[in-house]
Amino acid sequence: MAIAISASTPTEEADSPVHPAYDPTPSIPRLLTELVQEEFWTRYATIRGDNTFTPDYTADRKRTALLLRAVIADLVALAAPDDAQHAADAAAAANALRRADWQMTLPAQAARDWLRGQYQRHLEDNDPHPPNCPGGCSGAGFVVEPVIWQNDGGPVHEEPMACHRGEEDDPHAADCAGCHGTGKTYDAEFSEYSVCDRYTPDPAYEPVPAHHDDPWVSTATGHFDESPF
Ligand SMILES: [Zn+2]
Ligand SMILES: [Zn+2]
Repeated sequence: MAIAISASTPTEEADSPVHPAYDPTPSIPRLLTELVQEEFWTRYATIRGDNTFTPDYTADRKRTALLLRAVIADLVALAAPDDAQHAADAAAAANALRRADWQMTLPAQAARDWLRGQYQRHLEDNDPHPPNCPGGCSGAGFVVEPVIWQNDGGPVHEEPMACHRGEEDDPHAADCAGCHGTGKTYDAEFSEYSVCDRYTPDPAYEPVPAHHDDPWVSTATGHFDESPF
């Protein structure tokens, strides 16, 4: 039977840089952090066995963990559309979420389509994070942070940014076309720095050769070694 919804067909993937099933494509490392935290609170609440956490709180954590786990499996399957095992694993993980919701299991593709809708709802939820989120978002999933700074480092503009649950943002390396590894882009017109919001590796990037008279750099490897002092 032909399935009308074919987000994972190779043709469509080749046409579109961003996978249409998820737009924007979620970051798997971020999803793993989210998943680990949701799992942690679920287990911790269970182990405490007292009334520190309400049943609703624990149920939310448990469901979000199942949701994120399935989304990660779905993304892996989407990246390898010819791998039937990945597709089956993703569908099974989606159906684990349905079972937790007391819903009937669905055939593989339908389960994965349903999952994507659930993830979208999760993103649009007023409280995607727990109220005691270590990132300080109080559950909202975003925190207001400076995104533009003056030359002297003074913040000039703040915006709601994705809450990273108390973790530092992943660094951009020197080959980032936007910021060259500083994490900020410079606007000469306004003499302002803005946050570089996406690490974009430049395929043409050539590392700067190491200076061999620098005592901090090993002449044998060209890499930073232990301090010579
Ligand atoms: Zn948060
Ligand atoms: Zn960057």
